Amino acid sequence: MIAGIDLGGTQVRVAVASPEGEIVAVARARTHALKTPERVAAWAADQIVRLADGRQVLGAAIGAPGPIDPARGVLVNPPNLPGWRNVPLAGMLAERLGGPVRLQNDANLAGLGEYHHGAGRGSQSMVYITWSTGVGAGLILEGQLYSGSHGSAGEIGHMIIDPEGPLCQCGQRGCVEAFCGGASLGRQTGLAAVQIFDEAANGDSEAAAIVRQAATHMGLALINVANLFDPDVIVMGGGVTRSWHQVSPVLAQVLRSSPFVRAWRRPRLRRARLGDRAGQVGAVEWARVNL
Ligand SMILES: [Zn+2]
Repeated sequence: MIAGIDLGGTQVRVAVASPEGEIVAVARARTHALKTPERVAAWAADQIVRLADGRQVLGAAIGAPGPIDPARGVLVNPPNLPGWRNVPLAGMLAERLGGPVRLQNDANLAGLGEYHHGAGRGSQSMVYITWSTGVGAGLILEGQLYSGSHGSAGEIGHMIIDPEGPLCQCGQRGCVEAFCGGASLGRQTGLAAVQIFDEAANGDSEAAAIVRQAATHMGLALINVANLFDPDVIVMGGGVTRSWHQVSPVLAQVLRSSPFVRAWRRPRLRRARLGDRAGQVGAVEWARVNL
C-alpha cells in the first residue's frame, strides 16, 4: 500500500491506497489537538499502519503548507502552523514507517489531485489556484507537476499587480493576495471573508462591491497566468468555490476583456471538484509516482 497525507493548519488527513492509487481508507484529526510535529508524525504513522490492515506500506507523500524544502523534506516556517520551524517531517515519518516519505507543497498536491481525478481531468496543462485565506497555485505543465528550482513555483498570490497597492503579509506591495486573500479582505473591512461573501450573496451592495473588486483583481492574475503558462484549463479551488456563482462571471469577464489573450488561446475556467479531499488525493498520486 501507499499513503498520502494532507497536513493543514486546521486538519490533518491520511489516505491509504493501492500502489495503483486507488484510495481504500481515510482518517483525519484536528491539527491543533495533536499540537506538536512529533505527535502529528506519530498519529499519521499509527493511522497508516491501522488503515493498511496488515498489508505492507511502501511509503508516503505529505502535502504541507509552504514554505517547504522538498529535497530535505523540511517544513521551513509555515505561517499556518505557528511554532513549526525547520521541522524534518518527512524524515520523522519515514523513521516510523520504515519506508520513504516525500514532502511537497499542499497547493501543488491539491492541483495534482484535481488534474488526475477532478476538474482538470483531460487537460494537458493546468494551473490550479487556491483562493481562501491566502492565494496559492499548483502548476501541472504537460502532465508534470512543476515545483520550481527551490520548490516555490506557483506563488501567484505574490505576483505584484499594483506596485502602489496595499502592503502584503509577505512584505511586498500590491500582491494578488493583498487584494484578494480572505485574511487581507478581513483586515481591510473588519469583517470575516466568509461574512463578506455571504452578505454579497444576500444582496448587500457594499459587500457585493468588495467581492466584485476582489474578483476583478483575481481576473488580472488569471490574465498573467494565461500569458505566462498558456494552460488549457485553470481550476479554481479553496473557500471561494462556495461563492462560485458570484465570482466566476467576474473572472470570466476580466479574462475575456484582455485584447491580448484572444479566444483561441483563452484557458477554460473551472471550479474545483474534489473540495477538501484534493490534497489527500494529490498526495496519494505523488506517492504513486515518486516512491
Ligand atoms: Zn505578497
